Amino acid sequence: TDHLKPEVTLPRYIRINTLISTTTAVIQLFQNDDYDMLQYSKDISFKEFVDLVAELKEKQFVEDAHIPELLVFAPGTDLHNHPLYKNGSIIFQDKASCLPALLLKPPPGSIVIDACAAPGNKTTHLATIMENDGTIYGIDRDSSRLSTMKVLITRAGASCITLLNKDFLKIMPTSQRFSGVEYILLDPSCSGSGIANRLDHLTDSDKPSPERLTKLSSFQLQALKHALSFPKLKRLVYSTCSIYDQENELVVQAALKEYAGRFRLASVLHEWKCRGKNLFSDAENCLRASPKETATNGFFVAVFDAVCSVDAPDF
Ligand code: SAM
Repeated sequence: TDHLKPEVTLPRYIRINTLISTTTAVIQLFQNDDYDMLQYSKDISFKEFVDLVAELKEKQFVEDAHIPELLVFAPGTDLHNHPLYKNGSIIFQDKASCLPALLLKPPPGSIVIDACAAPGNKTTHLATIMENDGTIYGIDRDSSRLSTMKVLITRAGASCITLLNKDFLKIMPTSQRFSGVEYILLDPSCSGSGIANRLDHLTDSDKPSPERLTKLSSFQLQALKHALSFPKLKRLVYSTCSIYDQENELVVQAALKEYAGRFRLASVLHEWKCRGKNLFSDAENCLRASPKETATNGFFVAVFDAVCSVDAPDF
């Protein structure tokens, strides 16, 4: 029965919401509360850091070595009743799922689409990176997930987000409202097979059927191609919490083929040692994550950069 199955225990990751507080203030509050912040060398290797967080004991924490403004606590640390959570200063967010907004990095003032946004952890992360300056269209076709998102956005103090209850595939890239979009985050529905406790329990009956995987990956590719068709797009991040090539590298490969010469995969975060599977050239520019290799849920990220326009420069 379920409760007898072993659980994967991941560290508890906490993103500091710099729209409400600061890293220094949050660390200070935890230390005042008898939490012990462990120190480590600046040259710590990727693997050494992953091993260090896997060994965290109750009441210990560290600053993450790869994602700014992220703290790592021991598995099972429950901070849901903590005042810092209630006032929006901290957000529970797995380390791997902090990668998309970090890598999209829209500067303050940008016009951004988060195409499959609810419940919005990545959207509020984008808002902190943009310092609440600019516009993020948070699009989702599920109205009840958007209602939850509205509450979370308000708590996070993110004021630059416009929520739209729409099908992203029906958003017109050339319309007046969206033609200026330069950055898109696309985190579409997926099998969810990377979520640790599910991954641990992936028995044959839990596995998505071949038909479901085909349906998901064809939606993912359609959404990705649609996103790449926005006329002013500079950068796009595609992510899933799936472990399957069919939803990850293979979707990226098919989109790149269609957009050859217009978009290429950016080579990002070299210190991240868990890379895309070598299924096509440049696939190692993608990032993967897993409980074993990164002490996170299973995750996948690809960053598309527009190839510089060959249009004559404006003089
Ligand atoms: N990015 C979210 C976050 O970090 O909190 C999680 C997004 S979840 C993986 C995928 C979302 O895509 C779901 O909320 C689902 O309702 C939405 N979705 C699926 N198909 C869509 C479509 N055609 N247009 C807009 N949203 C869609």
